[in-house]
Amino acid sequence: MTTLDAKLLTREILLGFWKVHILHHAAEHPIIGQWVLSELRRHGYDISPGTLYPLLKRMERNGWLRSEIAVGKGPRRRRYYHLTSRGAAVLNVLRETVVELHREVVEEAAAHAPRKPLRLEAPASVELPAAKKAAPASRKPRRRP
Ligand SMILES: [Zn+2]
Repeated sequence: MTTLDAKLLTREILLGFWKVHILHHAAEHPIIGQWVLSELRRHGYDISPGTLYPLLKRMERNGWLRSEIAVGKGPRRRRYYHLTSRGAAVLNVLRETVVELHREVVEEAAAHAPRKPLRLEAPASVELPAAKKAAPASRKPRRRP
């Protein structure tokens, strides 16, 4: 594997992907930071609380999420994030964007696999066995000492 500048990749691209995840999950149920951390790690992302909480705060400031602190008896009061209607509208746009991005970056790339002549337009019914067989890249979270 080539050396990746993980910080650069995170700052330039992955932060945006994480926001898509967060909006998606907040649409399903109210979320708390700790849950988001473990969910993103389950997806193989190495994200720290120091990155996540400011990100959630920015999303709240953008009006995509609103938060409330649950009143409980425990010593630790949890902040729950809810999707707002503006966040739902953003999520709808992102869903279309992700579909379009996947179509080009994954499906068309598979159709134009190496060693085949480059076609500017794929046939209407193009089969993509390569795309289906492609195993997901295994991303293991980095471990820190
Ligand atoms: Zn997820």
